[in-house]
Amino acid sequence: MQNISLPREVVPGLSDWYRTVSRDLPWRRDPSPYGVWISEIMLQQTRIEAVIPYYNRFMAELPGVEDLTACNDDRLMKLWQGLGYYSRARNLKKAAVTIVKDYGGVLPADYDALRGLSGIGDYTAGAIGSIAFGLPTPAVDGNVMRVVTRIAAWGEDITKPQTKRDITQALREIYPTGDGASLFTQGLMELGEAVCIPNGTPKCAECPISHLCLAYGQGNPTDYPVKSPKKARRVEEKWVFLLSCRGKYAIRKRPESGLLAALWEFPNAPKEEIPAEILTKWGGDPNAMAKGPEGVHIFTHVEWHMTGLRVELSEQHPDFTWATPAEILDIYAVPTAFKVFLKEMEKERTE
Ligand code: SF4
Repeated sequence: MQNISLPREVVPGLSDWYRTVSRDLPWRRDPSPYGVWISEIMLQQTRIEAVIPYYNRFMAELPGVEDLTACNDDRLMKLWQGLGYYSRARNLKKAAVTIVKDYGGVLPADYDALRGLSGIGDYTAGAIGSIAFGLPTPAVDGNVMRVVTRIAAWGEDITKPQTKRDITQALREIYPTGDGASLFTQGLMELGEAVCIPNGTPKCAECPISHLCLAYGQGNPTDYPVKSPKKARRVEEKWVFLLSCRGKYAIRKRPESGLLAALWEFPNAPKEEIPAEILTKWGGDPNAMAKGPEGVHIFTHVEWHMTGLRVELSEQHPDFTWATPAEILDIYAVPTAFKVFLKEMEKERTE
């Protein structure tokens, strides 16, 4: 297939439009490199509306790189609780330590140096570089790939890494610098989010660059981007135990690496295991077991299908940390994956 190229007029077309439509978001009011970095990490996989309160809380408590390095891990997880993808928060802190050690506590105004920090990939380095430092560094994500493949009516499969590299290169060739870089990056993002939308028909009648868009001219924007089908997610079925004893519940810390690393959870086990046998190990009476709530949580590559089991134990088993519902809600970072069980804690706290 032919190489992709983009008309230069896309840059003023999108930048001028963005000036007129930009929303008043907290990280746009003061686009300091630190604020742009924190917002870009929070916005990965998370909707703008959901990020706003987290961003405000985070910036009020940790307003600079050094505050972030000094924040203890449990507090950091608590500030992140509910946003998901907790490795993002851990990587923020790791990167902050490097910024203090290697860059005097100031984010480096250099794409490769940004790219070398924990948790900063091509997209985020491009976004920070262009928005905070005015560098001509494209930030290419699914939204931008959709917009670009439509403008150029380019039918390469966007799940291939080479396609992303080609799109990035095509953008580099037309990227402005200074304020223009910031406006163009944000204009592309905004168009992808609000006009050239992912599901359903794009709002081409509202698009400021429809006259430059080949897919629009051909009448087939939804033929782009071309994407090979995703692999199905793995389903994991689990028992989740709400073990109570004298007003407290059993929780435990997850392993230090892997999914939801080092966060807190209710004891759980794969569905292949027999609940009565597990419970006996913890000193519980299988006959006292009652059905609890059920929940599903969807991660990127795996789904948890959870069935709750409630049991009152006569002794607090030492394998667990025992905490009241209020402590579980206020102190321990239990991820949203356990939302239905946290709701039970809410009910008990208010009773
Ligand atoms: S004209 Fe339509 S398809 Fe083309 S970039 Fe604009 S919104 Fe997307």
